[in-house]
Amino acid sequence: KRRIGVLTSGGDAPGMNGAVRAIVRMAIHYECEAFAIYEGYDGLVKGGDMIRPMAWEDVRGFLSEGGTLIGTARCKEFMERPGRLQAAKNMIAKGIDALIIVGGDGSLTGADIFRAEWPGLLEELVASNELSEQDVQPFKHLNIVGLVGSIDNDLSMTDATIGCYTSLTRICEAVDSVDTTATSHQRAFIIEVMGRHCGWLALMTGVATGADFIFIPENPPPATWKEDMCDVIKKHRAMGKRKTIVIIAEGALDQELNKISPNMVKDVLSTEAGLDTRVTTLGHVQRGGTPCSYDRMLSTLQGVDAVRAVLECTPETPSPVICIVENKIVRRPLMEAVAQTKEVATAIKDRDFEKAMRLRDAE
Ligand code: ATP
Repeated sequence: KRRIGVLTSGGDAPGMNGAVRAIVRMAIHYECEAFAIYEGYDGLVKGGDMIRPMAWEDVRGFLSEGGTLIGTARCKEFMERPGRLQAAKNMIAKGIDALIIVGGDGSLTGADIFRAEWPGLLEELVASNELSEQDVQPFKHLNIVGLVGSIDNDLSMTDATIGCYTSLTRICEAVDSVDTTATSHQRAFIIEVMGRHCGWLALMTGVATGADFIFIPENPPPATWKEDMCDVIKKHRAMGKRKTIVIIAEGALDQELNKISPNMVKDVLSTEAGLDTRVTTLGHVQRGGTPCSYDRMLSTLQGVDAVRAVLECTPETPSPVICIVENKIVRRPLMEAVAQTKEVATAIKDRDFEKAMRLRDAE
């Protein structure tokens, strides 16, 4: 019987529980044993009770729960080889040789490094007499499969990440609430949303709420942005609009790579456009709450395919990440997706905004 471990890592995202549920139940369906590794890589390094067998009924009710019920953490020990050596020992102690990771690009990179090091880690455990050659014999190859849990929708090669549509829904609800008070007082609101390197949430919120102006990191505005923004907003007001909504991503920049902060935008709207302006930072509200139907569906379908991928991948297959492209669940090479994601951040740093937008468009 194959033994498959699942863990959630990095920032929590609504829908992670749906993925855990699907993985556990699909593993059981294929007559494998499923294990939940609690608190991300921390649980893998600590071992023992942090790695628990999961039965069908252990994941009952998971589909509609937000966050991650098996916990997540940032684990410094796993960043270093000795931590990963301990993790390998703990996995062998439980008989696990396949891991499904639900996390962001950092978590998936860690998993790929772990897989590449795996044969060397086993040799080291044998050489130091921690395990015998016989102990490690059945575990020669480690299977790794990634699922992307991230509210930012920041991974290349997939149209959506688990959690992004719930977050977008939550943000839209918040903007709708702000709308009513803004309209009553004829105020302007600057609403800051998450997204350090990825403007997807800000852009889609703008489209979905009919915002007046949007700032995203991939497409910084020209030096004239203050006048441009005031012109647009004054035009909207002249047409009878009683409210002004500006959406700004956390990582918004100008073309010189200076941060554009919500307070800077507020000052411009107050002084240049003469509007009574407030700032609302949504913060962690964006990450919380019940997963929307799309994230339940996505996490379930991807969880199902993750287990199939574990069973189908050979030692030669590069670790896959389960994606969705044009409404189809597909597998992509995990490290290619991570590398392309990093290219966007590099293009922004190099001020090659056309390339950043092209890479985002290509996703
Ligand atoms: P988010 O997008 O929410 O930040 P993430 O998965 O990118 O999610 P990270 O904090 O980058 O979040 O990574 C989570 C954990 O994954 C780290 O605490 C660490 O344990 C592991 N990890 C990340 N990068 C590496 C790496 N290069 N080598 C080994 N482990 C890593």
